Amino acid sequence: MILEIRYYGDPVLRKKALSVTEVDEAIRELGENLIETMRAENGIGLAAPQVGVSLRLIAVDAGPDRGKPLVLLNPEVADAEGTTVMEEGCLSFPEIFGKIERAGSITVTGRDLEGKPVRLRLESMEARVFQHELDHLDGVLFIDRMSPSHKIVISGKLKKLRKRTREKLSRS
Ligand code: ZN
Repeated sequence: MILEIRYYGDPVLRKKALSVTEVDEAIRELGENLIETMRAENGIGLAAPQVGVSLRLIAVDAGPDRGKPLVLLNPEVADAEGTTVMEEGCLSFPEIFGKIERAGSITVTGRDLEGKPVRLRLESMEARVFQHELDHLDGVLFIDRMSPSHKIVISGKLKKLRKRTREKLSRS
């Protein structure tokens, strides 16, 4: 099932998400829906808060394994190395982009949809997408990591998006 994307201005994006304590049918279904929604939106990553669910669950489909999406529960960065700067976007911020500094390679731990422990060594694009999605679980958004000068450049677009989101939320 394709879920509705939550946009900037929706308070759920600023909440710290709760850990997944049990991998049950509802969690597996949410994982499948995250993948389906990410694909429908042509995204390379999606975090549960972006579909209005404040749980620590992310889907990633980037890097050399693109086409084989991964879902991770309670992901954590165990190790990070180097820094790179690249342009990023976010499904919750249509038409807004910016250069963001992140670690170049990371080791991520978590659980898969069967509840099995996972440990992944990731580089370049894949490492970047994971860090971006992990931030969502703590209510951190990519605009928080943009340079102040770039935030000024996009401030008009941000204000419009926030206004549109708030108006939509007040109607529903
Ligand atoms: Zn995002």
